[in-house]
Amino acid sequence: MMEDSGIRTYPWGHHRRFNAYSNFFRKLFGGRVQKISIDAGFTCPNRDGSLGTGGCSFCNNDAFSPSYCNAATSISEQIKKGMLFHSRRYRKSVAFLAYFQSYSNTYAELDELRLKYEEALRYPGIAGIIIGTRPDCISDDKMDYISSLSQKYYVAVEYGVESCYDRTLERINRGHDFACSVSAIEKTAAKGINTGAHFIFGLPGESREDMMKEAAIISDMPLTTVKFHQLQIIAGTRMEEEYKTRPEDFNLFTWDEYREFFIRFLEQLNPRIIVERFTGESNPGLIRDKGWGHLRSEEMIRLFENRLEELDTWQGRLYKGNKNLNKDNSE
Ligand code: SF4
Repeated sequence: MMEDSGIRTYPWGHHRRFNAYSNFFRKLFGGRVQKISIDAGFTCPNRDGSLGTGGCSFCNNDAFSPSYCNAATSISEQIKKGMLFHSRRYRKSVAFLAYFQSYSNTYAELDELRLKYEEALRYPGIAGIIIGTRPDCISDDKMDYISSLSQKYYVAVEYGVESCYDRTLERINRGHDFACSVSAIEKTAAKGINTGAHFIFGLPGESREDMMKEAAIISDMPLTTVKFHQLQIIAGTRMEEEYKTRPEDFNLFTWDEYREFFIRFLEQLNPRIIVERFTGESNPGLIRDKGWGHLRSEEMIRLFENRLEELDTWQGRLYKGNKNLNKDNSE
C-alpha cells in the first residue's frame, strides 16, 4: 500500500478499499463497461432431467433476468435492446460485454456454442463475452475453444460454486460437489481464461463461522473475479417451501449484519481477487423473506465503502497467504 499526499493507493492500484470490478474494467477499456444479459436458450442438467428436474433449491432464473433478456428473440436482438435499455438509464459506456447469464451457457455441443458466442461477438460494440455456467458443464475441447476466443476478446467463464461445503451443496440439490468446482476453476484458469465464481452466504445449515472460513479457501483458488450475494428466498423455488416449513433452519442476514460480516470476510480475502459484487438484487416482487427494504445496489456499495473507511480497513488486510499480486489481475 502506498501513501501519496495523504491518499492511499492499495495493491490493486487505486484508492478504493477493495479490488473493485468497475475499476478493473475502467483500466482495461479506458472507461465504463456495461454488461448486456442474454438468454441464449440453453437449459441446465439440473432441470432437463440429466441430473434432475427440480433445479437447485434457491433457483428461479426469472428473479435475476432483465426484461430485455428473452430466449424467444435472437441474441443480436437481445443485445440491441439491452444496449438501448442501458443507454437510457446510465452514463455512457465505452464498451459492452455480452453476458450469457441464464441457465448453463456451456451446456450444449461445441458447434452450438460457437454459433451463439460468435453471433454476440460479431455485434458492433461488443468487446467480449462472459459465460455463466455450472462446473460440471465444461470439457477440455470447450475450454480450448473459449481460450482461443480470449486471444482476441475479453472472455470470462463464471462458475456457480455457491458453497465450499459438500453437505450444503447436497442440501440445496446442486448436483455436483465442491471438488468439481475446484477442478473446473483450476483447468479454466490454466488455459489463460478469466475465471469467475459465484457464492451465496446464508444457505441453510451453514453457520457464520463456516461462511467466514470460505475466505481462506476461495483465496487459494486461481480466480480472477468473485461474486457474492446474501441468500434471498425467491418465490416459486423449493427453498420457499423449505423456508415456510422449517424457518428455524434459516439464519438470514439483516443488512447491518451482512455489512459487518462481509467486511470481516473481505479483510481475509486475497487482494489479488477482483470483487464484482458482494450483494444480490432480485426482483423485489419475488422476494419472500423480509428483505432489506428499498436499499439499492449503489446505495449498499456507498454504505459499505463508508464503513470500510470508518474502520480504516480494506480487502486483504488480514490475508495470510501469498501477498504477491498476480500481475494480470492487479490494476
Ligand atoms: S442455479 Fe443454475 S444450475 Fe441450479 S438449477 Fe438454476 S440454472 Fe440450473
